[in-house]
Amino acid sequence: MLSENVKAVQEKIAAAIAARKEEKLTGNKVTLVAVTKNHPASIITDTLACGLTNIGENRVQEAKHKQEEIGKDGTWHLIGHLQSNKARQAVAHFDLIESIDSEKLLAEVNKEAARIGKVQDILLQLNIAHEEQKSGFEKEEYLAILPKLDEYKSIRVRGLMVIAQKCDDVEDTRPVFAAGYRAYARLKEMRPDIDILSMGMSSDYAIAIEEGANNVRVGTALFGARDYSLKF
Ligand SMILES: *Cc1c(COP(=O)(O)O)cnc(C)c1O
Repeated sequence: MLSENVKAVQEKIAAAIAARKEEKLTGNKVTLVAVTKNHPASIITDTLACGLTNIGENRVQEAKHKQEEIGKDGTWHLIGHLQSNKARQAVAHFDLIESIDSEKLLAEVNKEAARIGKVQDILLQLNIAHEEQKSGFEKEEYLAILPKLDEYKSIRVRGLMVIAQKCDDVEDTRPVFAAGYRAYARLKEMRPDIDILSMGMSSDYAIAIEEGANNVRVGTALFGARDYSLKF
């Protein structure tokens, strides 16, 4: 039952906040983003009915089709890699783009947001785990873009997103999340208005929260296995 899974995840989130060894700059509230990718649109309706209002999708096209089917209630997070040529649709369909991973993409999203008079909330995705195929800014690119962020007038940087590597022992993710938190703390010195540190998914969200995440992206623990045969 979805409502039971929601309750179990929320309890684990509360326990992880309580288990923090120190006060975090990200505060004591954690946003649970329900990752509904590869599930039918109806699951989003069920999720909203359970009181979860943050919906995570990793593909623009899939989110667009689902919104055409059930509407756009809730706050939609884009969590998957975005190609620059899909920036226009991403801006149209998402409230928060978590996966900005290059200056080219940032510029394109800024341009498309400006075109429709929107200020687009975004996170900068950092590649800390260095797992193959994982996107995200490398350190040098990230440091180089920081002084330029204010040139992008139609972008509002809300914080950072980090994906840990897959590992047999989930404790091995802890140093990655700790590094994500340190990056957040440094960015907050420069940009005190940032407020989101997105780290952690079904297998590792408790550790991410202990290390300071205040936005977790959870699919499997809420909805079970994804159905990759579904076409959107
Ligand atoms: C799919 C996905 C998730 C959710 O993964 P689960 O293991 O099902 O919780 C979280 N973050 C990103 C970036 C994803 O692509």
